[in-house]
Amino acid sequence: MKQKIVLLDIDRTIIDTDRLKEEVKVGQTGKLVFSKKNLKKYMYGDVEQAVLQLSKIAVIGIFSQGIDEFQRAKLSTIEHLFKKEHVYIDLEKIPLLPNVIEKYKDRIIIIVDDSSEVLKTAKKINPSVFTIVIKRNGKDSRRDRVVFTPDFVVQSMKEVVTMVKKIDEKA
Ligand SMILES: [Mg+2]
Repeated sequence: MKQKIVLLDIDRTIIDTDRLKEEVKVGQTGKLVFSKKNLKKYMYGDVEQAVLQLSKIAVIGIFSQGIDEFQRAKLSTIEHLFKKEHVYIDLEKIPLLPNVIEKYKDRIIIIVDDSSEVLKTAKKINPSVFTIVIKRNGKDSRRDRVVFTPDFVVQSMKEVVTMVKKIDEKA
């Protein structure tokens, strides 16, 4: 059986980005001023346990868009669960998809994201990629206007674990 790789988005998938943006001060330089300790409260409550469970049944990676320093800070409380070689962070992540999908072509690739645009592009590149859209609070990402039917729709990371196990049964 092929090994699975689960690539997780950060913003609005494992971090409550909307709340963070509302509450965190923007410094004079325009840089977000936040501490690692402070950031933990913006991580959704189900993430740590789900990532731990996932790490037992799959390789876990990060596929995130944003400023490297900030995205890594958001991950800081769970970063020990990820290997550096599976962490992808860029200001524009969609252009990275062809290379990332190629890199894992011998595995079952599962991408978890709130963005249908990301998932739709991944599916177009390789139809065997499993796409899971996460709708925190039952809502579509407010910036998402792409029409796409993913393989699975979930509202929590706990459900992601269930779905990744199901994929295991099918493979
Ligand atoms: Mg996101």
